[in-house]
Amino acid sequence: MEPMSHNLAINGGTPVRNTLLPYGRQLIGEDDISLVCEALTSGWLTTGPKVEEFEKAFASAVQAEYAVAVSNGTAALHAAAFAAGIGPGDEVIVPVITFAASANCVRYLGGNVVFVDVEPKTLNIDVTQVERAITPKTKAIIAVDFAGLPAELEKIIALAQTHRLRVIEDAAHAFGATYQRRAVGSVTELTTFSLHPVKHITTGEGGMITTSDPMLAQTMRRFRNHGINSDFRAREATASWFYEMVELGYNYRLTDIQCALGIAQLRKHSLWLKRRREIVACYHEALSCCDTIELPTELPNRESAWHLYPIRLNLELLTAGRAQIFQAFRKENIGVNVHYIPVPWHPYYEKLGYQKGAWPVGESVYERMLSLPLFPSMSEQDVADVIEACLKIMKAYRR
Ligand SMILES: *Cc1c(COP(=O)(O)O)cnc(C)c1O
Repeated sequence: MEPMSHNLAINGGTPVRNTLLPYGRQLIGEDDISLVCEALTSGWLTTGPKVEEFEKAFASAVQAEYAVAVSNGTAALHAAAFAAGIGPGDEVIVPVITFAASANCVRYLGGNVVFVDVEPKTLNIDVTQVERAITPKTKAIIAVDFAGLPAELEKIIALAQTHRLRVIEDAAHAFGATYQRRAVGSVTELTTFSLHPVKHITTGEGGMITTSDPMLAQTMRRFRNHGINSDFRAREATASWFYEMVELGYNYRLTDIQCALGIAQLRKHSLWLKRRREIVACYHEALSCCDTIELPTELPNRESAWHLYPIRLNLELLTAGRAQIFQAFRKENIGVNVHYIPVPWHPYYEKLGYQKGAWPVGESVYERMLSLPLFPSMSEQDVADVIEACLKIMKAYRR
């Protein structure tokens, strides 16, 4: 019936490539290795000078006043939520399509997550839905820059000002993005980043929060250090042993070894961002002819940092569902992925009482989504392989 499907690897045909191409991957060079080695023998493995150096360089890269380094992107969200004053019984508005950590940070502090639907075009939080979800208990809005494209930050900030709410921007996908020509990291009062290997730059594990408010920065520095009001290096400098733990914090510190890697990675960030955009341009051009898929878009006044390239399948034009198409890509050795399962669908949230069906846009788009591989060290051949596999699979399953 479908002769084209015979050449698919899932049906015994030859795969487009022999090794699996992941959806994201770090790039480590000699320069990274030599800075890490220097840090290893510098005398400071943690709480040393590399932390401040990395924070200053990161803050300057996003035109923020302060950057606070922490052990991962989830710790960054936890610290930001703490600084925002989220506590037991507070309601915090979070988009339904994101990584679970965007919501979990509210739960760590005893708050209640109010999931709202996303905009169909961008999968960013829908501001109209946010407005409807505000109650007297609402404390904050967590906006996620999905796939790298900034959310409707201006409207979100205005709404927050009207209702006296805090704004946390989860920019784990958006390092290097701009909103009305301003760098993401300098737009909202608390912006969090992840330095996980699939993200734009990496420290192995790592996270960062940027802010223009010195009090928020100080609170987060304390929070990452047990709630202690001076750090070890500052005490060494004044030959003092006295310190006080003024509130309950955590050990969320990023080591000097990791910060050294971050400093080296940061130098390559704009080059890598450019490479991501080149790959995206290739995908756009080669795949726009394909009526069985919808491609991600940018919006005026916003530049995406292109962490992900999420395509949507037009299932009504296809003879196979997302699960089978996902497998078909994997058999061609193209490591597609799905971002994300709606957060309230996870058993932990289901047990808290959230029920499927309350977020029609996000939940229906989720059923059609696939992220194509996208990372700066992809070769021209890698890009060509993804395009070839995509066209081959779409042709085979076209109705
Ligand atoms: C990666 C990610 C995080 C968490 O970052 P980790 O460094 O893995 O803890 C949070 N939110 C979003 C949207 C992410 O993609």
